[in-house]
Amino acid sequence: MVLVLLSAWPVLAQTDDATYTVQVGDTLSQVALKYNLGIIELAAYNNLANPNLIIAGQTLRLPLHAAAVANAPADQVYTVQPGNTLFEIAAQFGVRPARIAAANQLANIDLIEVGQTLLIPASASSVGKPAFLPAPFQAIGFSEERIAQGRTLIISATLTTSATMTAQFEDRPIFLTGDGRRYWGIVGIHALTDVGVYSVGFRATLPNGTQSAVAHNIVVVAGDYHTETITVSSDRENLLDPAVISAEAEKMRFIWNQVSPQPLWDGPFGYPVADARITSDFGTRRSYGGGPVNGYHAGTDFGGNGQPIYAPAAGLVVLAEPLNVRGNAVLIDHGLGLFSGYWHQSHTVVKAGDMVAPGDIIGYIGNTGLVTGPHLHWEMRLGGIAVDPLQWVQERIPF
Ligand SMILES: [Zn+2]
Repeated sequence: MVLVLLSAWPVLAQTDDATYTVQVGDTLSQVALKYNLGIIELAAYNNLANPNLIIAGQTLRLPLHAAAVANAPADQVYTVQPGNTLFEIAAQFGVRPARIAAANQLANIDLIEVGQTLLIPASASSVGKPAFLPAPFQAIGFSEERIAQGRTLIISATLTTSATMTAQFEDRPIFLTGDGRRYWGIVGIHALTDVGVYSVGFRATLPNGTQSAVAHNIVVVAGDYHTETITVSSDRENLLDPAVISAEAEKMRFIWNQVSPQPLWDGPFGYPVADARITSDFGTRRSYGGGPVNGYHAGTDFGGNGQPIYAPAAGLVVLAEPLNVRGNAVLIDHGLGLFSGYWHQSHTVVKAGDMVAPGDIIGYIGNTGLVTGPHLHWEMRLGGIAVDPLQWVQERIPF
């Protein structure tokens, strides 16, 4: 088993994004090829709704590792053939033999073996910034290298040959979908997660069992969230009983831990209400009844009373029932670990097991459950982590 682990490109904040200006006649696949990127990765990185539609003069952002590939000759890997000497190999790649010896920690430059894999270092400027990916990785991509708390991260990977792939954000598995050569997945960045550097790891397993892994760091930056105090009327204060809250949370957690492996949505989400008047933003840090800030707003609130609520994207209704805290609630499974919830409805008109299409009415805005007045609380959960729903309206995820 061959296991290669690269902890790549550690400091992302130092470098601005590289860019490419689209020339007349360019196609996205040509640009992707030029920078050794997958077309899906490049489209995702630029939030392109239609990868076939790029126009001359348009600026494309290039992932940092692509910039490294384009700006500096890449390190290469060479397998020693019968009759090779280190000097021949060095001459073939235009690199001094001593540099190859140093890169491979060769004690004796006359002693290389047939079949041995040698790292052929590129120019000195690329030292410390590995510019190659281990086979079979062709490209890895991230929708954002610096991502704010509460957002959804899109990752992608392209392989040169078919393999099964897994990925993780730190220790947390990322749900992936793909065809064996190209994969993508989505990661929820918790609204209260510490800012800092986090590792995203990919692991490919070839049909013969060979594994290859690569890791890349992303930086989580602070979300732009404010703080608010919630006052709850006395007749509903009993709902703040921690036992009531945790029992209901446990029920929800159980449901959104059941992951449908394929994405059911397609394209950007719509707003769940016709008059999208936001009364409380996602991520707001909250204190209840003047107490300490001990939570955050896990969804986006819309004003209204009695108006219809629409499914913003396709999915499977997995819960439609009255709950203590969330009131009359609907939860939709969109696949790949993504769920959307609609709380406090006056009444619901779907049932668990229903498939919904975008625009289908699921219920009506009300004031059931733990509320200070009628409104719709719209929540999106990814791998159990609440993410900003509006990103899903404003951007086409995954691409
Ligand atoms: Zn809310």
